[in-house]
Amino acid sequence: MTADGFTKARTMHFPRQVLAGHDVVGEIGKMSKDFELGGTALLVTGPTTGNLAAKVVSDTLADEGYTVHTIIIGEASKDNLVKVEEEAKEVGAAFLVGVGGGSKIDLAKLASGNMRMPFLSLPTSASHDGIASPRASIKDGGNSLSLNANVPLGIVADTALIVKAPYRLLASGCADVISNTTAILDWELAARLRSEFFSSSAANLAKYAAESIIDNAADIKPNLEDSVWVAIRPIIISGISMAVASSSRPTSGSEHMFSHVLDKTAPGKALHGEQCGVGSIMMMYLHGGDWGRIREALRLVGAPTNAEELGVSPEQIVDSLVHANEIRKDRYSILGDRGLTPDAAERLAKITGVI
Ligand SMILES: [Zn+2]
Repeated sequence: MTADGFTKARTMHFPRQVLAGHDVVGEIGKMSKDFELGGTALLVTGPTTGNLAAKVVSDTLADEGYTVHTIIIGEASKDNLVKVEEEAKEVGAAFLVGVGGGSKIDLAKLASGNMRMPFLSLPTSASHDGIASPRASIKDGGNSLSLNANVPLGIVADTALIVKAPYRLLASGCADVISNTTAILDWELAARLRSEFFSSSAANLAKYAAESIIDNAADIKPNLEDSVWVAIRPIIISGISMAVASSSRPTSGSEHMFSHVLDKTAPGKALHGEQCGVGSIMMMYLHGGDWGRIREALRLVGAPTNAEELGVSPEQIVDSLVHANEIRKDRYSILGDRGLTPDAAERLAKITGVI
């Protein structure tokens, strides 16, 4: 301890280069060279959408003199993570490249963390704010775990590629970022009531990302590369805010807890970001904030705003609200320790038009 009692210390891990824009996929070989990465790359990609992009990535890396191996893999599960790590060992990979949607990026992110090797992220869609974050989700049996992982050394977000993914994914990514608004309010509450560590810089970044999507919501539309351009930077910045906080706190509060319960009560119905967006409408009501503004922004980007659009029943919404506070007991939120009663949950969902 120093003479004045100061003992604080914190590490933040950031991406070193973020390249976003039209037709930048071919730059990944040059980026790898700039980073002075070693000779063999392992591409982690999926059987469908990632394939075309994986071919371009593979070619551009080969052009720069790299030996490239590719593993085609399914969902982000513990079994598949082991497969990726074994393949990386087998081919003597010096770095990983995640090419695809969230699950492929998450696998590359976790494997690179476990194996202490760098990884580059090339998202072919942007359905949540995990592209640039140091967190990853993985399935273990029936459970989904959120784990600390490696932050990508470099990110190549090609708007020409992402615009070809189903628009629903981008709208979900926008909704995930819009939901930062309530996550930040929960964090502020926890700081006031529980003296929880609070980072204004992380909160401001997360807030900026959300406001930027809300302000531009009317311009975010299907089949427009310009919309991807408008949305992708806030989605990346939202991920960076987690790196600044060294946790998902600035982007994940009560609305995420609601979504995590909905994952269990109505599995496979809606996307993560879609559920968090609807959760955010309701949590904003509980915070006494402008929940109509959240709902309108979601409507404008084309994300769901109610149970029907999520494809879930009113009972599943109410049930998920009632149990939301049980998800992360360590993470204090507007739901408090005891959560909502069934009556209050039903009233909340009705008032906000969710059911
Ligand atoms: Zn999220």
